[in-house]
Amino acid sequence: MEVINRYGIKFKPSYTPIKIDADKKIITFKSLEPSENKCIINADESIGEVISGTSNIEMPFDFLHLAPPQEAPAFVKNSTLVNEAGWLDVDIQTLQHLKYKNIFGIGDVAGLPTAKTGAAIRKQVPIIVEHIE
Ligand SMILES: Cc1cc2nc3c(=O)[nH]c(=O)nc-3n(C[C@H](O)[C@H](O)[C@H](O)COP(=O)(O)OP(=O)(O)OC[C@H]3O[C@@H](n4cnc5c(N)ncnc54)[C@H](O)[C@@H]3O)c2cc1C
Repeated sequence: MEVINRYGIKFKPSYTPIKIDADKKIITFKSLEPSENKCIINADESIGEVISGTSNIEMPFDFLHLAPPQEAPAFVKNSTLVNEAGWLDVDIQTLQHLKYKNIFGIGDVAGLPTAKTGAAIRKQVPIIVEHIE
């Protein structure tokens, strides 16, 4: 959040894109949590958001960079190695698989409450090194 604030980034959690109009350069979002709409339009209107319909939000863009929904590769997802959400079922403290003790997991495939980033892997590597015998 310090970096976000330092760069003046408008942080919009709970926005999920549902439509992109590439010609007009407008993206439409809905709230990921419609029961408790957390989409909040900035009071200063600095990014030109407008409400569309009951609660969707249209936002103009110059450049759009999107990360698609993530999932484990099929050979992992369709195996007995995964938790209910489809990620490698590892212990949060040791990164050892909860069922198969000879398996450890880090990175995007691991079912851990971290961002799926190289930055997270950097922190996971020393843990896995410590616990592999
Ligand atoms: C556009 C983009 C930008 C990003 N920017 C950042 C950033 O700025 N900072 C940051 O920290 N992180 C960033 N990340 C996230 C970071 O790249 C990932 O978290 C990291 O690469 C995950 O590493 P990994 O080894 O777990 O998985 P991966 O890098 O996905 O490696 C998995 C490997 O398994 C291989 N594979 C898949 N199926 C099979 C199979 N059946 N048999 C054999 N091999 C297989 C794949 O080809 C791949 O090489 C970004 C990701 C993307 C997509």
